Amino acid sequence: MRTVYVNGQYMPENEATVSIFDRGFLMADGVYEVTSVLDGKLIDFEGHSVRLERSLGELDMRNPISKEDLLEVHRELVRVNEIDEGLIYLQVTRGSDGDRDFAFPDPETTEPTIVLFTQNKPGLADSPAAKRGSKVISIEDIRWGRRDIKTVQLLYPSMGKMMAKKAGCDDAWMVEDGMVTEGTSNNAYIVKGNRIITRHLGTEILHGITRAAVLRFAREAQMEVEERSFTIEEAQAADEAFTTSASAFVMPVVEIDGVALGEGVPGKVALRLREIYLDEMRKAAV
Ligand code: PMP
Repeated sequence: MRTVYVNGQYMPENEATVSIFDRGFLMADGVYEVTSVLDGKLIDFEGHSVRLERSLGELDMRNPISKEDLLEVHRELVRVNEIDEGLIYLQVTRGSDGDRDFAFPDPETTEPTIVLFTQNKPGLADSPAAKRGSKVISIEDIRWGRRDIKTVQLLYPSMGKMMAKKAGCDDAWMVEDGMVTEGTSNNAYIVKGNRIITRHLGTEILHGITRAAVLRFAREAQMEVEERSFTIEEAQAADEAFTTSASAFVMPVVEIDGVALGEGVPGKVALRLREIYLDEMRKAAV
């Protein structure tokens, strides 16, 4: 049984509880982060804690924990749950004042709720899915307009995943005004020659922590990076495509809406970036 962390305490997962009035439960009024663990160490903890702070700030929510304490909780959960490869899920909600109301409760008297738990994922880095590559479908992006805030409103991305599964695919890329925004739980890229193209940052997409690191490594490896939006048609005609996320790193995409990219196998650039990312991030892990 896992040991989890709830509001300052470590406890067995079956003893952990949150109020039925919690605004995370009633209103999806909460934010989250997922940090991966390789060799028992945290990948880009700094990036995730900075983004958590930003998400909370954008929603006028108080951060219930200091960065130092948050690091300590992550490390302790990795230790007690003996995670070598896996994930740490963190969620902070606006808490509960014991009732339901659209107006926010008084932050002076209502503590945010903080929950962390681990997911053991042996073989996370040496993933068969990355060797195979993923097949994606495109779907309309009907999410709210502040996708730069990492909220727990994940119903539409979950539905997108189910639409992909139903179509015999792995994931969905979302399209707004004819342009790809991002994947259901990842940022989207195409490759043409030596050039990597990925949507520019804005409120339309999540500012991926993995995206920032991968673009830095790409530039350091003398690849060209172009931050602009692209269409599904342009992606289908590209040499390669891939996605990035903290939990899947760099994932090659081999098919979009039934059209195979290149040879229909993971591309060289995606595989190289995956290798560089894993090498460099393992070295920098805490
Ligand atoms: N976009 C969306 C919609 C996501 O849910 C995620 C993963 N949380 C990402 C992009 C990738 O972000 P990161 O690299 O920080 O995991």
